[in-house]
Amino acid sequence: MMSEDVRELIIIGGGPAGYTAAIYAARAELKPLVIAGYEAGGQLMLTNEVENFPGFPTGIMGPELMERMRRQAERFGAEIQNFNATKVDFSKRPFKIETDWGEYYAKAVIIATGASAKWLGLENEQRLIGRGVSSCATCDGAFFKDKKVAVVGGGDSAMEDALFLTRYASSVTVIHRRDQLRASKIMQQRAFANDKINFIWNSVVVDVLGKDKVEGIKIKNVKTGEESILEIDGLFIAIGHKPNTELFKGWIEMNEIGYIIPKKYTMTNVEGVFAAGDVADPRYRQAITAAGMGAQAAIDAERWLAEQEHNEKQ
Ligand code: NAP
Repeated sequence: MMSEDVRELIIIGGGPAGYTAAIYAARAELKPLVIAGYEAGGQLMLTNEVENFPGFPTGIMGPELMERMRRQAERFGAEIQNFNATKVDFSKRPFKIETDWGEYYAKAVIIATGASAKWLGLENEQRLIGRGVSSCATCDGAFFKDKKVAVVGGGDSAMEDALFLTRYASSVTVIHRRDQLRASKIMQQRAFANDKINFIWNSVVVDVLGKDKVEGIKIKNVKTGEESILEIDGLFIAIGHKPNTELFKGWIEMNEIGYIIPKKYTMTNVEGVFAAGDVADPRYRQAITAAGMGAQAAIDAERWLAEQEHNEKQ
């Protein structure tokens, strides 16, 4: 392998963490390659308005925020590619990353592959995805004009989805497995204040009904065991996320759910491989915290690379 084939830094993932890492690394003249994936932009591409990212006092649309981050990274020389990493080899340096478009080698890697929506795991839920079942209210909400929909979950995502869906749907029923929401106070207040939103507490969805499209759901009250049917046209699942770490299993140390456990600042158990954003953060999972971790990982990678270079010259 020619030394010019080996990049200083490859960033896997094109969400707030990956793009922010790219901005920092590009400004440090590491000429990073960002393997951003076919779903470049990450979860913010599926959100509507972002109100809590500092610097945008009147809010900004999620996809626009990501487009701006991407342009900012490119301005300083980051190369951003929308293909997927398919396999990694972290057994020796330079690290090898296989993609749909060939192999790449790098002295350092930042993993910023984020997290994806979780499903309930019901057979009929999976069968009816795209036919009334969705995990993305902002993507699919408009299909439910004057229809009845339900949202499963009690966190901020569920409230955000429920509120968004009131723009189209005639009624939105939130189904939560406890009698208290996990969502932040402001989101709870907004949801409680909205006439179109009603709540079914202490309940779980046990089946999704309908042959070719969703016609209803079977709900079970977890306190009484009582089952009932709710007629709806759309079911939105908003029960949290799981980290996208399949690719790194066997190489990188993770917790039992699959979140990467950093060892030293943002560095993982593999020296020279760093992690940033939702992929290593089961706690905060905000765009701004992911971006912050991206900056940290880029700084850590830059310092580590400088150390390696220094040691090689000794
Ligand atoms: P989350 O906070 O983990 O909430 C997931 C919800 O789904 C919880 O209410 C949980 O119930 C429920 N749930 C989990 N598994 C379930 C299952 N198998 N069946 C039924 N219900 C289930 O996830 P999130 O709402 O996606 O939020 C993730 C993070 O992003 C949070 O830090 C949140 O603050 C942030 N976020 C912020 C905003 C905003 O600020 N506007 C918007 C979206 C997300 P329990 O409560 O019983 O555990």
